[in-house]
Amino acid sequence: MKMRRLHGLLAAAGSLAAALARADTIVIEAPQYLDVVQGRVVSPAVIVVEGERIAAINPAVRPANARTIDLGGHTLLPGLMDSHTHLNYEIVEGWETEPVRFKGSDFAMRGIPNAQKTLLAGFTTVRDLGTGLGFSDVSLKHAIDAGWVAGPRVIPAGHALSITGGHCDYAWFAPGIEPAEFMSGVADGVDEVLRAVRYQIKHGAKVIKICATAGVLSFEGSAGAQQYTNEELRAAAEEAHRHGLRIAAHAHGTEGIIASSQAGIDSIEHNSIVTEEAAQILKKNGTFVVPNMYLNKAIDLSKLPPAIAAKMNELKPVQIESFRRSLEHQLKISFGTDAGVFPHGENAREFAAQVALGQTPLGAIRSATVVNAELFDTPDRGRIEPGLLADLIAVAGNPLDDIALLEDVRFVMKGGVVHKQPDSQPAAASSWTVDEARIRAMLRASVEAFNRGDLPGHLSIYDPSITFMTRNGPRPGIAPIEAAFREAYFRDGLPKQQLRFEQLAVRPLGADQAMATGRFVLSGGEEPDQTGWFTLVWVRTAAGWRALHDHSS
Ligand SMILES: [Zn+2]
Repeated sequence: MKMRRLHGLLAAAGSLAAALARADTIVIEAPQYLDVVQGRVVSPAVIVVEGERIAAINPAVRPANARTIDLGGHTLLPGLMDSHTHLNYEIVEGWETEPVRFKGSDFAMRGIPNAQKTLLAGFTTVRDLGTGLGFSDVSLKHAIDAGWVAGPRVIPAGHALSITGGHCDYAWFAPGIEPAEFMSGVADGVDEVLRAVRYQIKHGAKVIKICATAGVLSFEGSAGAQQYTNEELRAAAEEAHRHGLRIAAHAHGTEGIIASSQAGIDSIEHNSIVTEEAAQILKKNGTFVVPNMYLNKAIDLSKLPPAIAAKMNELKPVQIESFRRSLEHQLKISFGTDAGVFPHGENAREFAAQVALGQTPLGAIRSATVVNAELFDTPDRGRIEPGLLADLIAVAGNPLDDIALLEDVRFVMKGGVVHKQPDSQPAAASSWTVDEARIRAMLRASVEAFNRGDLPGHLSIYDPSITFMTRNGPRPGIAPIEAAFREAYFRDGLPKQQLRFEQLAVRPLGADQAMATGRFVLSGGEEPDQTGWFTLVWVRTAAGWRALHDHSS
């Protein structure tokens, strides 16, 4: 059993950190944070994070034993939210035929690096509006929530609803190639629409997407024609709302935009042709609009079939006019990018695209925080306030002065877990070399301390500000793990067996990383000798060597 306990130490983070996360207290220090509600920067910014939530801001007394993250020179903001992504989708060669070549699992796995890029770009919550083939978006959400992969909190739509032959039907395949059915979102008539909505919800959809009009990235003639009837739109909206879900309508054309708003749909995606009349109706109904102004610039028309590229070109100037009209009428503009049509991780470029067209920097940031929190019905995020989720990002400077700073997010925390930190001394990084002697000495000291039964000494092989990679992402702080280990190991008194390392090897993994591998042997005492292997990956940081990952078998 002792081996298992030692194991527990060497791999401690993996098994214990999740349970102990709540005990972690982190103090984030920065010169200022953006209060998106009041629209001002507040100085200083001392944010106390306990577990996954913000516990206090600028408290009179700092918590004892907290780990401090110093973000000198940075401005903290709430984590960004994107209301329109397709994490499992990319415009690459052959994308038109993927629906019949890919399995749901292919789509889900493609989403893994895209989710990671999106999170590291500062987006801690996204809606995924329809790459749901095989419910791959729901699978990706599950994988992120379980900590199997890093990514934003995902609100998946499952399969987007479409009329037969509509924008979200894969209508260009021959009969029988892609069966059009309510399960994959193709639904005609009120009864089938209800069935399709319920089926998506049954399998994990947390928002409903309906394609109210024709679209650009499909092969119908017009991008704007209304496809669903008013009755069908109303049925879908009522059914989604009955289940407590929001509903998003893809709509380019004016009639479809108006019909969707009147049907009670919560957000209009793309929103390309907003006339004066449409703007007034959207305003009256409090409907959110989701313009995608960066998409206009970013999309590579040469990668699109000519018929689609022509539609895109035709709509561009109209979309700009519609965006300006949405600003004038002070519509609720939700920040949504359509990422997937352009490369994932570039989501924040939407900010500068909107500001260039007359949006204020604060208005654009509010769209991606408080406005989206309202649209998503997630009051637990979108602001920096005690009690809310610790979804925080930081940029190097004041984004109200330079909105493009949001394209270079330096710090990302999701639910109290740090996913990205600024390099405090990037210039020195190139000159770092693996300090093998130091790592060996630290490991040797740990063995000696262990054999003395000196637990804190033993654990001193770890830097006190250690960051462990765990199933739930990087998990800072050794203190709770130390406490748990002390409890588990020393309950029956000091260990009677002696520890030694054999076949210890320290190998460089590039200039500033090293891997220590070896065999540990527990011998002597009353129990039989026990052995196991361990691997520790060390990374050199400005603060010294840190064990980033440990894994034993
Ligand atoms: Zn889209």
